Amino acid sequence: MNEVNSLLEKRKSLLGPNLPTFYDEPVHIVKGKDVWLWDKKGKKYLDCYNNVPHVGHCHPKVVEAIIKQSSTLNTHTRYLHEGILKYVEKLTSSFSHNLSTAIMTCTGSEANDIALRMAMLRTGSKGIITTDHTYHGNTYLVSQLSRSNIAPEDPLNFIRHIPAPDSYRPMSAKTGIADSDHFAQELEKAILDLKKNNHGFSALLLCPFFANEGFPSLNHGWLNETQKIVKKYNGVIIADEVQPGFGRLGSKMWAHQLIGLTPDIITLGKPMANGYPVGAVITSNEIMETFRTSYRYFNTFGGNPVACAASMAVLNVIENENLMSNALNVGKYCISKLNELSEKYELIGDVRGSGLFFGAEIVLDKKTKNPAKKLTKEIINKMRHKGVLISKLGINDNTLKIRPPITFSKENADFLFTKLAEVFKELGF
Ligand code: PMP
Repeated sequence: MNEVNSLLEKRKSLLGPNLPTFYDEPVHIVKGKDVWLWDKKGKKYLDCYNNVPHVGHCHPKVVEAIIKQSSTLNTHTRYLHEGILKYVEKLTSSFSHNLSTAIMTCTGSEANDIALRMAMLRTGSKGIITTDHTYHGNTYLVSQLSRSNIAPEDPLNFIRHIPAPDSYRPMSAKTGIADSDHFAQELEKAILDLKKNNHGFSALLLCPFFANEGFPSLNHGWLNETQKIVKKYNGVIIADEVQPGFGRLGSKMWAHQLIGLTPDIITLGKPMANGYPVGAVITSNEIMETFRTSYRYFNTFGGNPVACAASMAVLNVIENENLMSNALNVGKYCISKLNELSEKYELIGDVRGSGLFFGAEIVLDKKTKNPAKKLTKEIINKMRHKGVLISKLGINDNTLKIRPPITFSKENADFLFTKLAEVFKELGF
């Protein structure tokens, strides 16, 4: 048995079956630095996928902050510590409206679970609405929101799903852009259905970049009508910034700012501490007060001094190394390179994204726009063998998902697109 198979066997016996891995042939990684990863045999991979090592794998400033704080003190929030206060003050100063309080957690799932409970308390209602192609985490409540990883339990009857936006194949008769009014109408229908069934309406929870939905191209203001409908029915808007946040999109720190949404609650996770497990819920004083006085919420590891030191180091690195402008500039370069490939190859149907979160829809031909799901999988597996890690997502599971650490350079982009063109050629295009 080769080493990979023996590791897979061992994982199965120790961790249980059905544990997902990426790629037909999983990668066994032993080392990471900046945008690069190395496997057990010394093969080097360009990481174009991972957003957790947001400022680059093992960034020395984050590592140093973790080491320094771990060797001084690590307790929890039942003791007083300045670290969490300094961090929350700095973090919340990046939100342009009155969201100035936070609960720190260890995961994005916990953050969404808390956000939903806040919305239920605030509204006195239970009904939750999300899109039909989203993912917000793995707690009992939050996992029920997902249509792509359907939980085996009986579905909770106070959840409704509305169709995800699709800028490439619009839902309405209009062409060229997804129809924002239609999205808002679907939302209103779902709210009325929740009300008819005596659940009431508490929250619309969405990723403002619609990352799992395949990041459709939506203009600033696209969610204006949606926001009006939520407010008409006194609901709460929760923006899940777990994937697009922390400057990845280049021109704005947060996806809700890019699309022009004003959420009542924001949830954070993955990139927050470059791999140290940290998430957060950000909201107004008023919503926080209601939650804090109703629940005696405590999270043993959430917001501990090491978590805050790692998180603060990430914010400082983004600022000191001008990583937002890097994301903006390199992201624009990547979109132009992808557009060049799209002119050459029939299989690239649509190019989209923002900053260092971009990709392309792989289609059978540009006229029918029929999704080439199998081909997309082949491309990703071939790229892995060429030493470039990317993935796929979207409503039709045919959108290349490229979301590297935000230190990604134009040279890294050239390497990525050279390998992508090689793969297209090998596949006969
Ligand atoms: N929200 C979104 C949009 C996510 O992508 C994820 C994780 N993939 C989560 C929430 C859950 O985060 P975690 O795995 O840290 O619980």
